[in-house]
Amino acid sequence: MSSLSLINSIVITGQQPGPHLLILGGVHGDEYEPMAAIRSLKKLIEPEELSGKVTLVPVVNQPAYERSSRCGPDELDLARTFPGAPDGSISQQIAHQATQLIESADYLIDLHTGGLISDLAPFSGYCLHSDQTILETQRKMARAFGLPVVWGTSAELQGRSLSAARDAGVPAIYAEWGGGSRCLPEAVSGYAAGCLSVMSALGMQETPVKTQPIQYHIEDNREQSGHLQLQNHAPVSGFFEPAVKLMETVQAGDSLGTICSLLGDEITTITASQTGVILGLRTLPYVKQDEWLAVILETDRPAPSTDSP
Ligand SMILES: [Zn+2]
Repeated sequence: MSSLSLINSIVITGQQPGPHLLILGGVHGDEYEPMAAIRSLKKLIEPEELSGKVTLVPVVNQPAYERSSRCGPDELDLARTFPGAPDGSISQQIAHQATQLIESADYLIDLHTGGLISDLAPFSGYCLHSDQTILETQRKMARAFGLPVVWGTSAELQGRSLSAARDAGVPAIYAEWGGGSRCLPEAVSGYAAGCLSVMSALGMQETPVKTQPIQYHIEDNREQSGHLQLQNHAPVSGFFEPAVKLMETVQAGDSLGTICSLLGDEITTITASQTGVILGLRTLPYVKQDEWLAVILETDRPAPSTDSP
């Protein structure tokens, strides 16, 4: 065990030299599958078989975790707060220390879920990067993570752990899976397998790891691509009942579900704003106007031109 003043971590040092991989969970305090998966890696990574060093942080945002919330007591979203400030509010201080951790690493994996209010299909993602070598490494890591969807998105997004990694020249990926105020066992084991598989791809261990086949690898360089909360907002407040499931294919204009009023006398049909695959879906029935209801992966966008297998 070691700790910066605000972030508790587990460091596993291999018997052979090699790179330093940082694995983060709990940037959002209500995302549980990553926390359990990262703790399980402590038992799964054998120092005798490890080349390099792995730093495991099951819960980056402990104050948010302890209030069962996405955000800490200052109500800042840590994933919009990087690189933070050493003398700022609690989230700004945590972001600052996490940025220092990222700058000390050679590679970053940051694991997320849909949080208390939503459920996400398994996917890994990365920022499109101006440095071709870093971009290719990120593509390799994201594909090695072994989830059905791989998504490269805007290089411009700010405030994320991936923004701090981009600015430090550290190849980085994130992953999303699960959520909805539970801890899905297959996401826990799948996340652990994904991290081990990336370690194999980076030459940090020799054991091959079995992962899922990739169904979609899409790159989208529009400015706000990858910002999950910007699509398919609720036009009114009320009780949301989805009509679709994760990974279902929809056409723009198809029904995503309905929002009904308290007594059920006013029903608003929600239609898909894009054509693609449902990647995320709100699970908490009560929704306020303008909150997001669904994330659609636009599958008609081009696949990357990469030599990756
Ligand atoms: Zn998150």
